[in-house]
Amino acid sequence: MLLVLLLGIAVDTHVKRISNLIGLSNKKDPQKIEQDLLNLIPNKYLKDANHVLVFHGRNTCIARHPKCENCTIKNYCNYYKKV
Ligand code: SF4
Repeated sequence: MLLVLLLGIAVDTHVKRISNLIGLSNKKDPQKIEQDLLNLIPNKYLKDANHVLVFHGRNTCIARHPKCENCTIKNYCNYYKKV
């Protein structure tokens, strides 16, 4: 029996916003953003990627009021570099 493990990242509103702000993807379509993330994130981190991005979006990179000064990844963020 052949077991095929399919890895993916659920691109919800948090993942989409953060991916665009940081610069992980410049796409708007969730499937294209997912493909960009799959190309960037090593396989061993994929199972946690959605949780990490959603957690960051709920606690630090909050829509409309991101806490950029307290953000631990601000030096890697395209949005932060622009503002
Ligand atoms: S620096 Fe600001 S915009 Fe960039 S990921 Fe952090 S909170 Fe979000």
